[in-house]
Amino acid sequence: MEFTKNRILSNKQLCRDYYLTETDGNGQVQMGQFYMLRSWGNIPVLSRPISVFNADQGRISFVYKVIGLGTVVFAGLKPGDPIELLGPLGNGYPDAEGKIALVGGSAGVAPLYLAARQIKAAHPKSGVDMYMGFSDKPFLTKEYEEAADQVVVNVGGFITDEIDPEKYDAIFTCGPEIMMKALYEKCQKAGAHSRLWVSLESRMACGLGACFVCSRPVGGANKKICKDGPVFPAEEVFSL
Ligand SMILES: Cc1cc2nc3c(=O)[nH]c(=O)nc-3n(C[C@H](O)[C@H](O)[C@H](O)COP(=O)(O)OP(=O)(O)OC[C@H]3O[C@@H](n4cnc5c(N)ncnc54)[C@H](O)[C@@H]3O)c2cc1C
Repeated sequence: MEFTKNRILSNKQLCRDYYLTETDGNGQVQMGQFYMLRSWGNIPVLSRPISVFNADQGRISFVYKVIGLGTVVFAGLKPGDPIELLGPLGNGYPDAEGKIALVGGSAGVAPLYLAARQIKAAHPKSGVDMYMGFSDKPFLTKEYEEAADQVVVNVGGFITDEIDPEKYDAIFTCGPEIMMKALYEKCQKAGAHSRLWVSLESRMACGLGACFVCSRPVGGANKKICKDGPVFPAEEVFSL
């Protein structure tokens, strides 16, 4: 983990509220890790946590939804503008091989691109199926088709309806918590819940495990999402 001052290489609007931002940088990133991003002085006070979409050949990229003050500033960045990166942070998804499903909802598809690429690079014989759920216009489907063996896209419905958990040795998910919980319940019915890993989001201040802003009960103990996570076994998050 390091703090670096970087430059924007490109900043592209994917569709109405979603952007793909590329910076220079050489981080050794594990799928599912994130950076704290900052491209302003004192206001807003806090940097913003964003997962790594891709990290390759001196470039780090992020896909994010424009929500409020911080992401509005990111959306306005131009090539050459400065941006500060702290990371990579968090644990990331565990190594997995065999038949793998990646299930993302809206902005939650972001970390699963690097996941598809890293699983295929580490285990070329593994099969990676990508499930992408969108409430509105889909984006980056062509890029995911290049990274995964099969891509299933659902717009306006429930992406969790599309997957048969029994087929998979591991399932990684990221997206709205209600979607990930529905997937957990489906996996539970199929006896596959111990093979499901979820990436949690929380309001975050330091990103380093020092401030406790992002702590919540997971697996019977208080866990810091920034440092103990953001990836956890789904059983620890959703089982009662
Ligand atoms: C580990 C992690 C990875 C993430 N990866 C992505 C990603 O790849 N793409 C993406 O679109 N979004 C991602 N998010 C959510 C993203 O951090 C928030 O949408 C963003 O911080 C909103 O900032 P804002 O200034 O635009 O909104 P505001 O609402 O103005 O932010 C106010 C404060 O709340 C925090 N905040 C608001 N919403 C969230 C949220 N959902 N999660 C965490 N903090 C929030 C902000 O960081 C800030 O401190 C991630 C969150 C976490 C915790």
